[in-house]
Amino acid sequence: MTNLSAFIGQLPKAELHVHLEGCLEAELLFELAERNDVALPWRSAAALRAAYQFDDLQSFLALYFQGCQVLRREQDFYQLTRDYLARAHADGVVRAECFLGPQSFTEQGVPIQAVIEGTLRAMADAEREDGISAGLLVSAHRHRSEADAFALLDSVLPWADQLAGFGLGGAEVGNPPEKFTRYFAELHRLGQATTAHAGEEGPADYVRQAVELLGVDRIDHGIRALDDPQLTAELAQAKMPFTVCPISNVKLQGVESLAQHPLPRMLAAGLTVTLNSDDPAYFESSLADNYRQCAQAFDLDAAALAGLAAASLRAAFLSDEQREPHLSELAAQLAAVRAAAPAEQQSGRAGA
Ligand SMILES: [Zn+2]
Repeated sequence: MTNLSAFIGQLPKAELHVHLEGCLEAELLFELAERNDVALPWRSAAALRAAYQFDDLQSFLALYFQGCQVLRREQDFYQLTRDYLARAHADGVVRAECFLGPQSFTEQGVPIQAVIEGTLRAMADAEREDGISAGLLVSAHRHRSEADAFALLDSVLPWADQLAGFGLGGAEVGNPPEKFTRYFAELHRLGQATTAHAGEEGPADYVRQAVELLGVDRIDHGIRALDDPQLTAELAQAKMPFTVCPISNVKLQGVESLAQHPLPRMLAAGLTVTLNSDDPAYFESSLADNYRQCAQAFDLDAAALAGLAAASLRAAFLSDEQREPHLSELAAQLAAVRAAAPAEQQSGRAGA
């Protein structure tokens, strides 16, 4: 596992499903609470970490939105984003497309300029200082109304040409994609890339709606699509990318254990699957941790891991010109590991 672990760390990867609010480490949360004079229900960062026990998506979102209360100023969004991108860069991430849901902040009176400009400034600095490419995906909350989503869109239009795209997240069950059909039509009219969370806890039909009614470019999670073999076959054929977050699914009890996770079934069905961290601070697992734990659980070898990383680079909202150097580097790394070790030593379980 040691060689494979190092291989994973160096492999050029795209992180396509990560929420900046979910990158708020306990220590930074406490630092910002003090700076902004926000009262917290936990006595220490350690006490907060001890509260990272979730029964489902809803119980997680309660803590996640509570954490959002400490983010008040432009500098806070800058620090949150810059810190995450530094960790991602160290983890071998070459492209990060990050969700942020401004509605949590603007409803508390935080100016939209502070939210967007702090985040974009951190992304520009990370690109210049570390060479990591980053994009912002503005996420609307599905438990709010479609009118709220349109108001969000209006508020971020001044930055429209600096965004990577738009997403849809939050409490899934009871808030089907069809609720946002007109909103997504408007995003397409504006030429924006789109994704939606679907089929995390919600049924396969939500995945179908996201594809057919919203016209998304990627499905976030989508693991329940497998419940509908016809849909699965259609999405495999269409090469629809799925941004799967295995450790998140286990932590939120969507699946019983990593060994039970449908990742191998998704791959066997021919779906285009990428691995992602979702909320690395709260799940205490980075993108590379997701690769490492999946390698272990499913006995994935270097070629399979490189295949997942290549899928992430191909599904990223990048031009072919931006994508190509990363795919070439990935191919070179796979060739080097193959030359250095016999096939049986490249297995995920070997030496573990
Ligand atoms: Zn998510």
